[in-house]
Amino acid sequence: MELTTKGRYAVTAMADIAGQSDALTVPLSQIAERQALPLAYLEQIFVGLRRAGLVESARGRSGGYRLARPAAEISIADVMAAAEEDTHFTRCANGEASCLRDAPCLTHGLWQRLGAVTSAFFASVSLADVVGGTLAGMARAQAAPSAGLRRVYLDHNATAPLRGEAKAAMIAALDVDGNPSSVHSEGRRARGVIEAAREQVARLVNAKPSEVVFTSGATESNAWVMAQPWDTIFVSGVEHDSILAPARANGAEVIMVPVARDGRVLAEQIAARVLSGAPVGRALIALQLANNETGVIQDVAAVTAFAREHGLRVHTDAVQAPGRIAIDFAGLDADTMSLSAHKLGGPKGIGALIIRDHYDLAPLIRGGGQERRRRAGTENLAGIAGFGAAAKVALAALADAPRIAGLRDQLERDVCDAVPATVVIAGSAPRLCNTATLTLPGKLAETLVIRLDLAGFAVSAGSACSSGKVGVSHVAEAMGLERDVAAGMIRVSLGPDTTQDDIAAFAAAWKQISGNAALAA
Ligand code: PMP
Repeated sequence: MELTTKGRYAVTAMADIAGQSDALTVPLSQIAERQALPLAYLEQIFVGLRRAGLVESARGRSGGYRLARPAAEISIADVMAAAEEDTHFTRCANGEASCLRDAPCLTHGLWQRLGAVTSAFFASVSLADVVGGTLAGMARAQAAPSAGLRRVYLDHNATAPLRGEAKAAMIAALDVDGNPSSVHSEGRRARGVIEAAREQVARLVNAKPSEVVFTSGATESNAWVMAQPWDTIFVSGVEHDSILAPARANGAEVIMVPVARDGRVLAEQIAARVLSGAPVGRALIALQLANNETGVIQDVAAVTAFAREHGLRVHTDAVQAPGRIAIDFAGLDADTMSLSAHKLGGPKGIGALIIRDHYDLAPLIRGGGQERRRRAGTENLAGIAGFGAAAKVALAALADAPRIAGLRDQLERDVCDAVPATVVIAGSAPRLCNTATLTLPGKLAETLVIRLDLAGFAVSAGSACSSGKVGVSHVAEAMGLERDVAAGMIRVSLGPDTTQDDIAAFAAAWKQISGNAALAA
């Protein structure tokens, strides 16, 4: 049994196009070269693919083919059919059971079944699966039961698994050879990848593309803003360390804004300080959009209204928000905003600082004209391409937020029913749809995390352990939580792949683990 070359070439060529950035039309000569396929044969195959409505062609210098539908909506069976590939591999499996003098041959059922299984498999796999690595994921998932453990990943606030679309865009970008700063056509192609991604990131947060500056991640974005020559920085104890540490190092007067027990920053106290008459000079308010440990959403718009009136700048760390709540940079009216690709299904080590137009922020990294002289260094092309693709998916994923909120609420109900001592942290505050912070007073979070890991669940501890001494999360401390409540705090953060079964299994594991005496603090 063997597939003909026509079918295989058709699938390979279509996968090649699917792996390029979606705006590009791809000349057949490039596909032929990259995939080592005969050009004349490809030309013949593409007549059929075009006739079947799977590709569109563009003429002229930048002529070539692009997919007529998203890669996720084109199955391998579609491509095979357009290439007139037959997945019935032997003469006796063609329908009539007459292979042996009007009777079915000995192996007739075998080949017929193989044809049916192959057709079903090809129909179940899309081009996006082929280029996005989902097939490897399927293979792992199938292998898992025999390995005896099903993993449930509930740590999306630490990092979200790479989306297939982001991986495909990154793989395609690795084949783009030029330096984006070069003026030749290789350079312009690389520049095109960056600008397409910039538009996708801008669209995700309702900013202008000119306001998006790519950085190495949110830690750099935050450091950049915090390194400006401020006289006063208003900040609260629930901010991420990448805000707090550079704020302390800045030399400015750092004013700690109090936080309510439910995790909400009492930002109105900033007004009291500013209106008291004591000068604040060049002043910054750093207020996150949503907290990474509790998911609590802050009212940034209320702060910017006041800040604008009194000449203060506002920076918001929005790392945890994309794909979970709609982000409107223009409407928020903040001066700067940090994003990180790996929290929204993109790669690690790439992020952005959104800087409102005409705000002349001094560069943190100098020595090159990239990013319109705002951030020096040759761009991380593959990272940026992956960020752009993930941003596009994250924007669409907002529609799934109510389902995820429903699962999170169910999780909180189920664990409290299973173990009544469970406390839900910040349950009454407005929160991200995907985040549940649970604690078992008197238990140690680190031990809970290890037990849950052994049971197949990936979650994070809210508290941190250093030099053998159990510390308490600075977020819990800022919220004024008691030590024994804070010490058992764990964060469960759901994602697009979380199911009802995952939640039920988690609640069962929670019940089993909480009864374990060895967990006592
Ligand atoms: N801010 C928040 C709220 C975060 O959760 C994180 C990541 N944990 C960061 C900033 C830092 O982002 P990055 O990993 O891109 O440096």
